[in-house]
Amino acid sequence: MPTSSLINPLWNEKKVKNYLPHMTVPEVDDFLTKSDLVIIPIGALEQHSSHLPIGTDFINGVEQCKLIAQERDVLVAPVLMAGQSPYHMAFSGSITLSADTIIQVHMETVVSLIKHGFKRFVFMNSHGGNRAITTFLVDQINQKTAGVAVDFGVAIHPYLKSDTYKKPEVLDRHAGTGETSDSLYLMPDLVQLDKATATKLTLPKHLEQMLPEVINEEPTAKLLFLSEALKGEETGKKTSTLEMTKTGVWGELNPKEATVERGAKNINNTVQAAVKFIDKWNDLIKE
Ligand SMILES: [Zn+2]
Repeated sequence: MPTSSLINPLWNEKKVKNYLPHMTVPEVDDFLTKSDLVIIPIGALEQHSSHLPIGTDFINGVEQCKLIAQERDVLVAPVLMAGQSPYHMAFSGSITLSADTIIQVHMETVVSLIKHGFKRFVFMNSHGGNRAITTFLVDQINQKTAGVAVDFGVAIHPYLKSDTYKKPEVLDRHAGTGETSDSLYLMPDLVQLDKATATKLTLPKHLEQMLPEVINEEPTAKLLFLSEALKGEETGKKTSTLEMTKTGVWGELNPKEATVERGAKNINNTVQAAVKFIDKWNDLIKE
């Protein structure tokens, strides 16, 4: 190692096991003797109010994948930072990609990895706006390539311990207390909790009426509410982020109520569920 005055003063990354961008060719070859499993995070670069960074979904997704890869041999291969975020575009810094672009980038990624001997792919989506794209992408891989792909959220669902956190009495979603808690655990230096403020939502009247049932997780109200809410300004639905919230937080709880303990518990639950899923998959295909 050169003396510290000779190295990049900004450099503070540590090599992370099973994280493709940090690995050498021999390390990838060695990995392939043990496992053919890949996890690919799909995130977003979009506004997360004034207390969380634009890269929240990407960074949180990658960090969760890295944690899973310390428990089991799964290659973490992020290739795209941005996702589908048209409804956040009124806020500076947000980037949105089309569904076609996101699917094409990941299809070409999977085809590349299959050439080297990888066979199984888990897509870990960390942004609500990518949900349907992830479902379609996974099916396209299964229909068109030699790879077998699954959606992380679907895969780990049976293994998640039910959330004991008391449900709030108001909407609490994008950049709210849950996401802020996860961020306090996964990327503490990038959270500016002192900049978080509570906001009042302005929803179209019929969505406002549904809200109590949505908060109570009534399935039909939730389905209809989410089908209409958080859509680009150009749709005329009046549900782009800026039309519903001045701060960019989509909820009425103050994100300051977030805690690192809640984040740690939630992420640990996710990582442990992922480990159980991977163990089960490995077990089911054991020769
Ligand atoms: Zn987010």
